[in-house]
Amino acid sequence: MFDTDAVHAGEPDPPIERAVTLPIFQTATYTNEPQDGAVRYVRYNNSPNHEALHEKLAALTHTEDALVTASGMAAISSALLTLLDAGDHLVVPRSLYGGTLTLLGDLLPQFDIEHSFLPDDGPATWAGVVRPETEVLYAESITNPLLSIPDLEAMVAFAEAHDLVAVIDNTFASPVNLRPAKLGFDVVVHSATKYLGGHSDLAGGVVAGPSDLLDGARKTVKLLGGSLDPHACFLLHRSLKTLGVRVRKQNRTAHTIAEALVQHDAVDQVHYPGLSSHPDHDRACALFDECGAMVSFELSPASTPDDFFEALSLPLRAPSLGGVETLITQPRYTSHKDVPSALREKLGITERFVRLSVGLEGPDDLVEDLTTALDHSLDA
Ligand code: PLP
Repeated sequence: MFDTDAVHAGEPDPPIERAVTLPIFQTATYTNEPQDGAVRYVRYNNSPNHEALHEKLAALTHTEDALVTASGMAAISSALLTLLDAGDHLVVPRSLYGGTLTLLGDLLPQFDIEHSFLPDDGPATWAGVVRPETEVLYAESITNPLLSIPDLEAMVAFAEAHDLVAVIDNTFASPVNLRPAKLGFDVVVHSATKYLGGHSDLAGGVVAGPSDLLDGARKTVKLLGGSLDPHACFLLHRSLKTLGVRVRKQNRTAHTIAEALVQHDAVDQVHYPGLSSHPDHDRACALFDECGAMVSFELSPASTPDDFFEALSLPLRAPSLGGVETLITQPRYTSHKDVPSALREKLGITERFVRLSVGLEGPDDLVEDLTTALDHSLDA
């Protein structure tokens, strides 16, 4: 069971020095006998802290193997640079995290790796962008910041039909709500800075998948130097033990908030897959355990965004997500600031578009704070 694995999977057996929690091995290198061949070094991701985490994460993501990295972007870039060679091509939906879009648009072309967007008209039209050199399909399980849920089953079938490696960023859902490997995705990446870390106090990432692919990713991370340091490993390890409890409570509070926002005159549209009005609600119910703890909404033209933000007292105005504190942001100025304005407009990410990462505060307090600020945004 997920919560049991979160606590017990990967724990050293017997415990090191009888310690109930795995201590931090705050050392960059380890002694070795020259002839035994086993080099332990922090950049090689093979300290006791790394190894325990890899096992725990593989259990939680239902994959054969897992690897922690220095950030979510280190996980995404390392996974893609492992799977793609110069001259290769990948296909992606248009709605992705801004950093990933910039990686695809600015950095990967330097390695002669190109991408194409899957047409928005549905799976029947996707084959049109596949080339002989296409190797990877890359998607997000809940898109940032629009919170739509792509047709994940169609993506897996499409990848199989075209012999593509299917890679998914499951950051927004977290493994509590969705285990994409069970749907057939080959490689799952996470920003562990978000729900897995859960306290806004570490940066980390995860690549999870079959051992042969992970061996390649391990080599890439080792060479690019995107390894997680032992102290961050320790923090992540500790956080994973409470992942299920945190995310399930955050999911439910998010649902309550989404329902309250729908009622408010200062809000034009609420994007939350748990609402029956959400276009992907049926898919969310079929594939997800629960619908996540991110809520996006559009302020109506009658409300003043600055007055709304100024009147808030609980949510902190900051990018990122998944922590115990509720965070609120305008993606136009944060996660999607570097996305070309034409694409941003096409996605509807205007200054009225607000993204909320729901934390662990009391649901009633959050609803009251948000509705008071929305009232204020209309009065001003
Ligand atoms: N994937 C998603 C969906 C994200 O939202 C983010 C960051 O916000 C990342 C990946 C990158 O993660 P990190 O900031 O840990 O590199």
